[in-house]
Amino acid sequence: MTVFIKNASEILTMTDGIGVVKNASIFVEDGVFKQIGALKCPQECLTIDAQGCVVCPGFVDSHTHLVFGGTREDEFAMRLSGVTYERIAKAGGGIANTVKRTRTATENELYHIALKRIAHLIRHGTTTVEIKSGYGLSLSEELKMLRVINKLKRDAQIDIIPTYLAHTIPPKVKRRDYVDCIIKELIPEITQKKLANFCDVFCDKIAFSKKESERILLKAKGCDLKLKIHADQFSNSGGAYLAAALKCVSAEHLEYTTKGAIGAMHRAGVVPILLPGVSFFLQLDKKPDIKTFRKTKSAVAIASDFNPGSCMIYSMPKIISLACFIYGMRIEEALVGATKNSAQALALADTIGSIEQGKQADMVILDVDNYKKIPYQFGEDMVKYTVKKGRIIYGKDR
Ligand SMILES: [Zn+2]
Repeated sequence: MTVFIKNASEILTMTDGIGVVKNASIFVEDGVFKQIGALKCPQECLTIDAQGCVVCPGFVDSHTHLVFGGTREDEFAMRLSGVTYERIAKAGGGIANTVKRTRTATENELYHIALKRIAHLIRHGTTTVEIKSGYGLSLSEELKMLRVINKLKRDAQIDIIPTYLAHTIPPKVKRRDYVDCIIKELIPEITQKKLANFCDVFCDKIAFSKKESERILLKAKGCDLKLKIHADQFSNSGGAYLAAALKCVSAEHLEYTTKGAIGAMHRAGVVPILLPGVSFFLQLDKKPDIKTFRKTKSAVAIASDFNPGSCMIYSMPKIISLACFIYGMRIEEALVGATKNSAQALALADTIGSIEQGKQADMVILDVDNYKKIPYQFGEDMVKYTVKKGRIIYGKDR
């Protein structure tokens, strides 16, 4: 199977910065990039006219909680009418609401809801997505979530990376007992059944302490799971330092991370994942220290954090805009963050995240004539085609 992407205004290769190649074409064979440049179609093949368009590597959404039961727009409305988060939580709202509705949903129901959400991601140009468990909060319910994620991985048109997330302590369960359950039962079971690539822990004052997070992550490391951590979102919990000490693949959120911890993460090769959609959705004042990330030349990734409580944004182009508007990231930084660096945050930099000979032909063709318009034309539905392994999986004029 061969595909020819003809005459793009700009191709963003993501090699050496964003690597803009103007007025060029791409030849794809057997699902991988063969040639990029001023080409003539070498043979009879499926041709996509990309005149007036920007071609970018498919977006990599490296942090989502896409599988869950129910949605929480009622709580959103309550917050807007002045009810505090604490009162909503006391009335059974917040994460407890999602846990309840995820537990009562069947595997089949969760699977079909999530498959519809994935169709939305594809329409917005995402070609790889990480999905975390974490709304089950018991051995059987976390395994149920992971089975759903793995069934999606088999069936969906895009690549799915499953992560087990130790999200929080379930109500009416002793902290120590739950951490022991994760370490002695859950992680061994996940490893034995090969249900996850990564183990992630929410290390913060409202979830697991640094010590508890360390115990969980060390066990996961011993079981050959790769490591991630939700660090320093609501307080300086020491999560970023822990990520550096354990050489986690990525550390995520990082609003309260200090200059020292940013340096330690960089030296340890930890990829920071920033989530500007959450800052926007919750209107949080505290922002990650972009200037220090820039100074240390950290490979900052950005992702949606799609979840029912704090970010229901499917669109990576909108996340790119928000990274610029809210965090003050430069356009080039946000674009690399949504592609190449996000691939690195999933340990997939060898196969995806850039347009290079031999890499998987995952692309998004955007209906704008230069890359600066991607964040600038905020909110516009600009994805014309989404291409996965050389196959068109979404197209506006098809
Ligand atoms: Zn998250």
